[in-house]
Amino acid sequence: MRLLKELDQKDPVEVGGELHAFASRLYPICRSITGDGIRQTLAMIQKRILLKIFEVPTGTEVFDWTVPQEWNISDAYIKDSRGRRVVDFQASNLHVMNYSTPVRATMPLSQLKPHIFTIPHRPDWIPYRTSYYKKDWGFCLSHNQMLALADGDYEVCIVSKLEDGFLTYGECFLPGASTDEVLISCHACHPSLANDNLSGLTIATALAELLSGRDRHYSYRFLFIPGTIGAITWLARNRENTARIRHGLVLTGIGDAGGFHYKKSRRGDAEIDRAAAHVLQHCGESAEILDFSPYGYDERQYCSPGFNLPVGCLMRSVWGTFPEYHTSADNLDFIRPEQLAKSLRVCAGIFDVLENNRRYRNLNPYCEPQLGKRNLYRSTGGESIGAEINARLWVLNFSDGEHSLLDIAERSGLSFPAIESAADVLFQSGLLEPSDDRSGSASRPEASLPSRSSVF
Ligand SMILES: [Zn+2]
Repeated sequence: MRLLKELDQKDPVEVGGELHAFASRLYPICRSITGDGIRQTLAMIQKRILLKIFEVPTGTEVFDWTVPQEWNISDAYIKDSRGRRVVDFQASNLHVMNYSTPVRATMPLSQLKPHIFTIPHRPDWIPYRTSYYKKDWGFCLSHNQMLALADGDYEVCIVSKLEDGFLTYGECFLPGASTDEVLISCHACHPSLANDNLSGLTIATALAELLSGRDRHYSYRFLFIPGTIGAITWLARNRENTARIRHGLVLTGIGDAGGFHYKKSRRGDAEIDRAAAHVLQHCGESAEILDFSPYGYDERQYCSPGFNLPVGCLMRSVWGTFPEYHTSADNLDFIRPEQLAKSLRVCAGIFDVLENNRRYRNLNPYCEPQLGKRNLYRSTGGESIGAEINARLWVLNFSDGEHSLLDIAERSGLSFPAIESAADVLFQSGLLEPSDDRSGSASRPEASLPSRSSVF
């Protein structure tokens, strides 16, 4: 399986346009860690890939946490004394603090103000606020909007429901020749925020589509889950299966114009860490590798000491470090079609490394084999050797059954595709034999129909 070759057959402008268009369709939905927003989001993803939807009841104990009550909202506003909506949930779902309890009251501005959040140094942006585990209500306004509120009484209304229900998440499982798994996880709980949320959902959906119907060595499991509580819930329900996870990636914040950042797994030397670093080194964009830290996205849960899974986090701009983070400025203009397309390419490159990284043995290890008589070398000597021949020499020299193709790519400074294609040519010429037990056989058939299931 070579995903990059598949992508190379498509027009990158078209690929970027499709990715951005899907994010645009998801953008207006008011998502949260539970409720109909995440259900609608998963239903839209389910139209494209085989997604099984799980509903976990409120009150379910998941390690040290408990699945919270389900939150839904249909309307909210602040009306002035003349009955005009001066703040309107219908204009932006960010205007209401996520998980706000219902409220209907008339109060003076002084009483309302403690429930209002703004960003004074970004006076036109609306902040994104949540209060999942403390019952409270609030409105998020641009600072200018708040400054325009005159003294007087305001009618305050939040039509929300907080009641026993379910936590919803989606899982797309693509079986491969091996039961060893690659885990891809992204959070689906933020309302109208594009980079932090939708970019990950969009890329993960496209990757699952790209992987579907291909021969895969690994099995792939895509999780579309609410942040933190969703990952904790999934891990609690799948504890015994996590041993199958050989490689994992959390995808988030991957559509903005910033350079790439890859945060290593807690292990720090997992194959996914090396594969991601290698692909980023050759991707032609700026890229930085970050050590693991126990703060960030759901890699925190996958890399908690009890699990310590080989899961890293791929992003562009790092959470919390860019001004648009968790504000209304993280909108559809903040993510760009060309960046989404390049991010998809990087992910495809990483999967290509994982799928095709294997060990070979040189069948002619005593001095160099004569490549010329096999048409694997230039016919006239003297010029500097070409890149292809260089890659062949590297593969022949280090294919001792110990070094993997990724080892050789790292050591030679050549890209993995160059090393892999050299190995392919040498294998076809009878100069190499595989020295690992990877079968390379076709994958098992997938389930035939998308299904919706509940497990309570
Ligand atoms: Zn966030």
